[in-house]
This record gives sequence, structure tokens and C-alpha cells, in this order.
Amino acid sequence: MFHALIVAHTHGHGDHVAGDTQFAGCPATTIVGREPEAVQAFFGFEQWPTGTVGSDLGGRVLELIAATGHHKSAVTIYDPWTGILLTGDTVMPGRLYAFDFDAFTDTLDRLVAFSSARKVNHVLGCHIEMTAEPGRDFPLGATFQPNEHALAMTTAQLIEVRDATKKIGGQKGVFVHDDFIIYSDMRMRNQLKMMSRGLAHRLGQRLRRI
Ligand SMILES: [Zn+2]
Repeated sequence: MFHALIVAHTHGHGDHVAGDTQFAGCPATTIVGREPEAVQAFFGFEQWPTGTVGSDLGGRVLELIAATGHHKSAVTIYDPWTGILLTGDTVMPGRLYAFDFDAFTDTLDRLVAFSSARKVNHVLGCHIEMTAEPGRDFPLGATFQPNEHALAMTTAQLIEVRDATKKIGGQKGVFVHDDFIIYSDMRMRNQLKMMSRGLAHRLGQRLRRI
């Protein structure tokens, strides 16, 4: 089947699929669903969540790696033309939420192994949440981020994320590193703390405008 446009996602969280509706009904356009079954079926994954599969854009073949842990339908996409590894919310300069910690650890192992066998120039995630100051993130929902961390990360930083995650093991909590923060447990306490900091930040912004 000819697809002029494929709308696919690094994973199915709301902030990554929110724009889908604008493509609905467009000619020769396929919107890949947000569930793992839809992702597997569309790209032809034979093994999930450990498989890798090619996706031919027309002489330019991307490689997709199943990358669950942050989300059950997450994939990482490698473009050999640019050497870019698109890691979604799995690896980025921000808050790394390992909703399924074991799957997250396995994914990082696979991404490190994949990167050592390919030329990866940049590891690009989907958000910047860290400031340029080591270990300091912007509040949740910040819309103005002066002095932010660069989006592009290196394979050395990918290895750092993997090693830091392995070190956490079975511990629950929030683990702050210079370029990322790992949440190994989304306990209500951690979520409330993050949300109230974000709320205080937005309230502060509003008050400054008055
Ligand atoms: Zn996400």
C-alpha cells in the first residue's frame, strides 16, 4: 500500500499523539495507532519487545527498535542517513519515567548494543526538561526555558543513562544526574511534588503578569 504520509509515534502518551486528528481523512495518509499491537502490525515486528525492523521510506530505510519501559508501545527510530537515533521519552535531557523498570533497563541495554554497532551521531529525545545547570530541571509545564540543556545527547550519555538505571536496581525513587533525572517509581508522593512545583511556577508567572 502506498503511504504518502505516515503518522507514527515514538510512543502513545497523550502529548505525542495529540496532533493525530489533524491528519485524519487526509489522502494517502496512514495514522499508526498508539497501542503496541498497531505498532507491531504496521511495521511488521516479529519479535516484541526485543525486535528490530526496517521501514523503507523509498530508498531510505529507517530501523525501528522496540523500546518499551517508558511506554508499552514505545519504539526508537534510527536513521542511517543522518546517524540520528530518535529515542522519544526513553532517553532525553529530562525526566525519564521508567513506568516498567525492568523493560526500561532491557531497552537501554538494547539501545546501547545497537548504537555500538551503528554510526550514531546524535541521540535525540522528545523533550528538553533540564536546564544547562547540571542536575537542575525546569518545573513541569514550564513554557519558557531560558538557558536550557541542548536536545542532542551523545552515545556516551546514552551509556550513562543505561549505567545509572542499572545501578538503581530495585530501588524506588528519583535519581538526579547532571543531564537527566530517572524516576524509578511514579509514587503519588513524587508525582504530587513534581506537579505542585509546576503549579507554583505557573502561578508565579501569572502573578508576575498582573
Ligand atoms: Zn512519554
